[in-house]
Amino acid sequence: MNKIFTQSFALLILFIAFLSGCGEKSNTSSESVEEAKTYQWKLVTSWPKNFPGLGMGPEKFAEYVNEMSAGRLTIKVYGSGELVPGFEVFDAVSQGTVQMGHSGAYYWKGKMPAAPIFSAIPFGMTATEFNAWLHYGGGLEMWQELYKPFGVIPMAGGNSGAQFAGWFKKEINSIDDLKGLKMRIPGLGGEVLKRAGAIPVTLTGGEIFSSLQSGAIDASEWVGPYNDLAFGFHQAAEYYYTSVWHETGTTLEFLVNEQALSDLPKDLQKIVEVAARAVNEDMLDEYNARNNNALKVLVEKHNVKLRQLPTEVMKALKGYTQEVLAEQADNDETFAKVWASYSEFLQSMREYNDLTLKEYYQNR
Ligand code: CA
Repeated sequence: MNKIFTQSFALLILFIAFLSGCGEKSNTSSESVEEAKTYQWKLVTSWPKNFPGLGMGPEKFAEYVNEMSAGRLTIKVYGSGELVPGFEVFDAVSQGTVQMGHSGAYYWKGKMPAAPIFSAIPFGMTATEFNAWLHYGGGLEMWQELYKPFGVIPMAGGNSGAQFAGWFKKEINSIDDLKGLKMRIPGLGGEVLKRAGAIPVTLTGGEIFSSLQSGAIDASEWVGPYNDLAFGFHQAAEYYYTSVWHETGTTLEFLVNEQALSDLPKDLQKIVEVAARAVNEDMLDEYNARNNNALKVLVEKHNVKLRQLPTEVMKALKGYTQEVLAEQADNDETFAKVWASYSEFLQSMREYNDLTLKEYYQNR
């Protein structure tokens, strides 16, 4: 009796399975074909392989995509120079040599003068403010429009948070102390320092320590305590300036070849987008947590002397920044358009945060 019941039940299950199979037959088979197809992408970066912070962004991205797609889209990450040099990442993605890149928009200034706005602008927005502008203030659409002629789609790919003014071998007590100062500082920040009489120098991360130690340069910015401690800059310069001015919330980018993305099924396209968004947030969380700990180590274990730039110096740097940005806007129509949107958003954020967080930071 029991045996007959079990057999009938098993037959019923088989019958239901057969029916449900029949009902969605056409759908299931086309989905199966789509699901069975796998994609292998290459992602080139401007960082050494597995570089802490910046370089771990694309590694995590590849891991998320692989897991979320159950292996249907796998991404191999290449460090700077492994497949293409770090400064050729954009071209490689544009030409379709690779499907993706991870870099910083300020590297493409020569191609598109407006590009640095999507990475770092002196006296610009904080990471939180920038992400708000990007995703809910029209910023991302402008960024996409900027890269569109190159067949490249940009996505925010991580944020270092506010960067420190950097390492100095002597103290800065007045604007005169900047005159003749040889400092490693790239981009628009360097342009601003030049107006203050300093000599900006461009060096890759790996060249900074020896240049500081030998005295070839007098000062250098890099990122913040987490990355700076790893490079050992405290052994080469005595003063660490915590003031934030030249990179206030540096954004990194994922670059995606437009054709490669549109060749993916819709669900995989969404996975790429959502994984990039997750990495963008994750990197900021990691920097916030690790910078804090690293700063304690620098001060308590290595006796680093923390300093802040005097108000007079900050005011002068801000004045020069306004000059530099106004010139950029005069020279390039797109820069002017993006800058108008960015600065309007920054102004409204400033007013809002003056009423809220600014007071709270003082009261807590
Ligand atoms: Ca920097």
